[in-house]
Formats: sequence, C-alpha cells, structure tokens
Amino acid sequence: MGRVFLEHPGGARIFACNHCDTPLTNKKELVSTRFTGSTGRAFLFRKVVNITFSEVQDRMMLTGQHFVRDVFCKKCSQKLGWFYEFATEEDQRYKEGNVILEKALINDYNGIESRDPSPTPPQNHQHHHMIDF
Ligand SMILES: [Zn+2]
Repeated sequence: MGRVFLEHPGGARIFACNHCDTPLTNKKELVSTRFTGSTGRAFLFRKVVNITFSEVQDRMMLTGQHFVRDVFCKKCSQKLGWFYEFATEEDQRYKEGNVILEKALINDYNGIESRDPSPTPPQNHQHHHMIDF
C-alpha cells in the first residue's frame, strides 16, 4: 500500500486514533459525550477526518432503527466507531452525518493553539458555592 494522505483537523484539543496517533477531530466538533459504544463510553462528533467507511448497515438501537456505517482509522484500519447515515425516528435525525468515536479507542491531547484562527477561551464557569453565615 502507498502513502496514506492524512488531513489535520486543527483546533486546540485534538482527538486521535489511540493505535497510530492519527488526528481525527477536535473538541469544537464534539456534540455529545453521552453515547455508549461496544467498548463503553462513546462521543458524537459533527466532523471526523482520516477515516474510512464500511457499507451501510441496518441496525436496531435503543433509540430506534438506524442506517449506519462502521468507521475505521485511515492509517491503521482500527475500528473507531460508526457513522449515522440515516435515522428513521424523527427525534434522532440530528445524528445524521455525525460520527461516533469510542472513547476507549481514541486519545485526546492539546493541539497547537496558534494554528487556530479564532481561539475560543476555555469554558471555566465553575460555580463556587459560598456559604454565608
Ligand atoms: Zn490508527
């Protein structure tokens, strides 16, 4: 096999394949962390690069019938999660075109922030509970 051309997703917080470190997406594309995959916790992303797709499969999930494609790392072919092609339930359609990556199969690390044209400040809205006596 020849050289694999890889894109870089950019951004301050990068998610990468935990097997070969290929960058896949960044925190700005993260939609939800409340998904469950075959290995446990899984994340939903709007856009993921450097992945390949399987054929469409018809899969019955807790949230209804979905047409999905398994997704694999473009470089090392490790299975990373799945892609939502189509959801039959109206309230699940927001997932269409989005990608699930399983937390156990990816790493996250800090990218180079200066590459980001419009860096957003970290969300640090911690509530300090002050007790008045
Ligand atoms: Zn990989």
